Amino acid sequence: MTNLTSLTLTQAKALRVRGEVSAVDLVDAFSAAIEKQQPELNAFITLTLEQARQQAAAMDAHNKRDGLLPGLPIGVKDLFCTQGVKTTAASKILSSFVPPYESTVTAKLFAEGALMLGKTNLDEFAMGSANITSAFGPVKNPKKAIGDTELCRVPGGSSGGSAAAVAADLCLAATGTDTGGSIRQPAAFCGIVGIKPTYGRCSRYGIVAFASSLDQAGPMTKTVADAALMLQVMAGHDPKDSTSVPRPVPDWSAGLGDSVQGKVIGIPKEYAPEGIHPDILASWERAKTILRDAGCRLVDVSLPHTAYALPCYYIIAPAEASSNLARYDGVRYGDREDAETLEAMYAATRSAGFGAEVKRRILMGTYVLSAGYYDAYYRHAQRVRRLIYNDFISVFQGVDALLAPTVPSSAFKIGENQSDPVAMYLNDVLTVPASMAGLPALSVPAGLDSQGLPLGWQLIGRPFEEGPLLTLAQRLEEAV
Ligand code: GLN
Repeated sequence: MTNLTSLTLTQAKALRVRGEVSAVDLVDAFSAAIEKQQPELNAFITLTLEQARQQAAAMDAHNKRDGLLPGLPIGVKDLFCTQGVKTTAASKILSSFVPPYESTVTAKLFAEGALMLGKTNLDEFAMGSANITSAFGPVKNPKKAIGDTELCRVPGGSSGGSAAAVAADLCLAATGTDTGGSIRQPAAFCGIVGIKPTYGRCSRYGIVAFASSLDQAGPMTKTVADAALMLQVMAGHDPKDSTSVPRPVPDWSAGLGDSVQGKVIGIPKEYAPEGIHPDILASWERAKTILRDAGCRLVDVSLPHTAYALPCYYIIAPAEASSNLARYDGVRYGDREDAETLEAMYAATRSAGFGAEVKRRILMGTYVLSAGYYDAYYRHAQRVRRLIYNDFISVFQGVDALLAPTVPSSAFKIGENQSDPVAMYLNDVLTVPASMAGLPALSVPAGLDSQGLPLGWQLIGRPFEEGPLLTLAQRLEEAV
């Protein structure tokens, strides 16, 4: 029998549907892989292997092989509330929180037969680009550069545990969330596929909130076909989330084989910022050649407000975070520190419960929302956000999708960029614009750089046009 853990989601599904592999066989194979590699990678915060095995055994006992994900083991970012299973958001303040309800996205996955192997590690409250702000320790990227004697690189963040778990064959696929790049950037760093759908495609119900106007769930997978399958299950209108969009979910898998002949691809000149690594530029050229050879027409375009996306993001996201995180007061959720007075209890709880990066965001957010600075920062940033959106919409009148790199560098070493928050924030420079505009964007593996580390190509599409992005991504994937 082939090595079960190295199968793609789509391949494993085919075996399951034909009855050639049992759900228990799959769970056992992944459990063994996790037990072996988890101590080094730290990709999971909580494991639910026993529960997955029981569910698998029940499926096998009834020969249950229907559903879109029949008995297929996945990882779930520990930002999705899972009923009865600890959900920490990688924060000390939620280290003992067991949700009494299920997020809509995980409920949909389980309803189609997916089995959860565990909750994957992340940056605390999804704030970070390297998975080093987790209260449960950093995650290691399973990929080494030429000359690395041991695993020493970050997997990206914030969905670093999901990316590492998929890349290391510890699950068939995983969920991620992306506020400013947290699906695409770790996907690029670990050499896997990640798609952030259009804002409103997937319900945010039951996902621990970071910045509500930006947060979106999406899949992290080994292949584009797997991403189409996962997204199919995760997407859809949910009356429990007022920003979820009542639109039918297309059959993305069916559209994958479509021709890309004649598609117009925009090459945004602002996506080569100062300091970008020459390997990234060379890789971008390669993607252009692949799409040109596939019959696409490439045109140079300009998105003039791109340079303002990152500074505006670091006003808007912390502002929303400071408001969302006000709920962790030691009364309603999570941990509580004892103190003499109510005020002192709030202060002690929040001081002990939040890590440094989260505190930094709360301080920034509270500052830009404060009476004297709201107009100068927050309102201004909102206006610039509209200009960023308008740039995209006007460019999309002439192009079908945009092609750019996902990241300005490949995976750096654990410890690098750590003392300088601004250097860390610069990781998001190429992913944040699409987040600010709420557009669908994905990262597909671009092969290796000169150090032997994975890179990603990013495709950004019109609102609700995930399908054409996946089709284009598959052409790129085939060529690598
Ligand atoms: N790295 C970005 C940040 O730290 C994006 C995080 C995310 O998308 N959740 O805010």
